[in-house]
Amino acid sequence: MNPKTILKNIFGYDEFRPLQEEIINTILTKKDSVVIMPTGGGKSLCFQIPALIFDGLTIVISPLISLMKDQVQQLTELGINAVFLNSSLSAEDYRINEELILNKKAKLLYVAPETLTMKKTLNLLSSVKVDCITVDEAHCISEWGHDFRPEYRQIADISLNFKNVVIAAFTATATPQVQDDIAKNLKLKNPKKFVASFNRKKLYLQISPKTDPLTQIISFLEKYPNQSGIIYCFSRRQVDELYEELHYRKFSVRPYHAGLSDAERKKHQEEFIRDDVQIIVATIAFGMGINKPNVRFVIHHDLPKNIESYYQEIGRAGRDGLQSHCLLLFGYGDISKINYFIDQKEEKEKRIAKMHLDALIRYAESYNCRRVPLLSYFGENYTKENCGMCDNCSKEEKDLVDVTTEAQKFLSCIKRTGEIFGAMHIVDVLRGSKSQKVIDKNHHLLSTYGIGKDISKEQWLSLSRQFIQRNIIEKDYEYGSIKVTELGKEVLKGTSKVKGKLTAEEFKYKTQKDISLDYDNELFLLLKFKRKEIADKSSVPPYVIFPDKTLMEMATYFPQTEETLNRIHGVGTQKLVKYGQTFLNVIRKYAFDNSKEEKLPVKKIKKVKPLKSNKRFMEIGNAYKECFSVEELSAKFAIQPKTIISHLTTYVREGNKINTDLLTDLIETNEEKQKEVFAAFEKLGVNYLRPVFDELEETVSYDDLHILRICYLKKIIE
Ligand code: ADP
Ligand code: MG
Ligand code: ZN
Repeated sequence: MNPKTILKNIFGYDEFRPLQEEIINTILTKKDSVVIMPTGGGKSLCFQIPALIFDGLTIVISPLISLMKDQVQQLTELGINAVFLNSSLSAEDYRINEELILNKKAKLLYVAPETLTMKKTLNLLSSVKVDCITVDEAHCISEWGHDFRPEYRQIADISLNFKNVVIAAFTATATPQVQDDIAKNLKLKNPKKFVASFNRKKLYLQISPKTDPLTQIISFLEKYPNQSGIIYCFSRRQVDELYEELHYRKFSVRPYHAGLSDAERKKHQEEFIRDDVQIIVATIAFGMGINKPNVRFVIHHDLPKNIESYYQEIGRAGRDGLQSHCLLLFGYGDISKINYFIDQKEEKEKRIAKMHLDALIRYAESYNCRRVPLLSYFGENYTKENCGMCDNCSKEEKDLVDVTTEAQKFLSCIKRTGEIFGAMHIVDVLRGSKSQKVIDKNHHLLSTYGIGKDISKEQWLSLSRQFIQRNIIEKDYEYGSIKVTELGKEVLKGTSKVKGKLTAEEFKYKTQKDISLDYDNELFLLLKFKRKEIADKSSVPPYVIFPDKTLMEMATYFPQTEETLNRIHGVGTQKLVKYGQTFLNVIRKYAFDNSKEEKLPVKKIKKVKPLKSNKRFMEIGNAYKECFSVEELSAKFAIQPKTIISHLTTYVREGNKINTDLLTDLIETNEEKQKEVFAAFEKLGVNYLRPVFDELEETVSYDDLHILRICYLKKIIE
């Protein structure tokens, strides 16, 4: 089988993601490669597909047992023979896996480098043909990376044991130092390098001023009921506090940080992965080793360490390619907290840390598309005018008003207090606060004292951030004090105007409907429920059974036969056989109770090779060709005439020719009207009958439309 057929038949996916096909082909020609692709980019498939094509074994080196287990589970569900060898196995299972390798039953072997270098493993492998060594999470080989694993350094030597073996290294770490280290330490021979774009298009990026984090988080969570997400906090204490608050409010939530016992951490992680719990409140200790694809949101309660950590943390959302929401709550208090930690460091480290922090602040305070500074950090030049998926791009210029007067008040107050205070103090003076600091400094005697009472504290703070953005004030990040810039002086003089937002800057997240599917939520939930039931029975995470997108498509197209089910995203041969009937039963019952009809997914009309196991439509189509009428076919196959028609539709769609005379005998619509129906198909497409039914003002019955659709399809094929 070729890569594309494997993608469709085994994995159930229609298209390769960017670079996947090229990478697969390179590995197949036995050329070493280094692949840099963001989290969720689909790296695993790039070595799993060659593994199925190679005659010999593919060894996959992975740093964590949880990652190996996850992949082996997923592959097993797809009917692929994959095993791992590690200390978590019982002696018996270990032996069974060894046997599978010796007997050439296993196509992929997952191991940690420690296991690979063991004598008994090398012995075992000495008698099998190894075609490919895949190094997953290859940044572990570099001291510059964040998870250096010295054992990775031994991989190069071990690879010498195998003749004609290709090495493919994969990582999501983009820094050039790490990339060079990978090629060098693996001793790759003139490797081909693939660097995918780091733009994760489906992540909606939002940064909001941290005004009242708990309320902000709760109102956010309320928008995502029954969805999985991660909330990152700076400290363990913060995790515990937020967890308590959310737990008390009956959210389905667990804490995760290094202060918990191993057993507790493991339990919470497992509950999250298995959809028993929706939300994890965690420190950055959480994430590595999590492959959960349906994380729908990531919230940063506190400022992350730097852009790279931020990118990595938000990257845990939306691996399944569906739209996901990333919210960062940005508070100036957090900056001083991080600064405090930075100050404990040594001089050189301190400078670098400060630079990183500055880049992060610039990112947070930018008025432009979030993707520009984010991607430029990874050396990418993002040139699209409007990404449509960040707060700044969905903000409208018309929301801006003239805030020159406010700016003048603010600026003159900065001047009068000597340009040595932070925004908070300036706002206190403007709002006429009686705080000790104001009184001590005699600032209640200033002419600017109390002239800004008409505007709330939050609004003033928001304005001050906007003024920084507009470059009329500048902030000393070390001390937090603000000064008036040259441009600010113009504003004070009245020669320059300022525009800004007066209302709190809570930008509305435009919820575009996911993957443009208008799925039936009720059925989606029923399917999720069924999936969970099956997953629990075999003790795997639900996403191993089917990804969310599969269920969404089922709840969009209401497939009622195996043929149509097979066209759904993520339904390959093995899963069709294993779970097809179970899910079809749920869909059929729901469709019957709610009078929903099956629709054929638009995108998949193309030549999908019919599978051996489900050629029902072929059987029926061929029988029809032998001049059986629909009624006779219905009796012969013991299925409803409606379903016969649906099979015939598929049959014709697949490019088979039939004589439609037997069908047109069954309809009432006259020829004149038929022409109108065809025109409507021409105009509205053939995937949905409802629009056509409406277009004809309900003058043609659905029964007739079903048949006329076949006639129409037949005409276009010819
Ligand atoms: P990475 O290792 O790069 O973080 P994974 O290999 O775990 O990413 O893939 C992320 C998700 O994307 C998985 O759920 C995988 O099944 C899915 N995926 C990969 N390639 C495709 C594709 N071509 N079409 C649809 N889904 C894909
Ligand atoms: Mg991966
Ligand atoms: Zn944008």
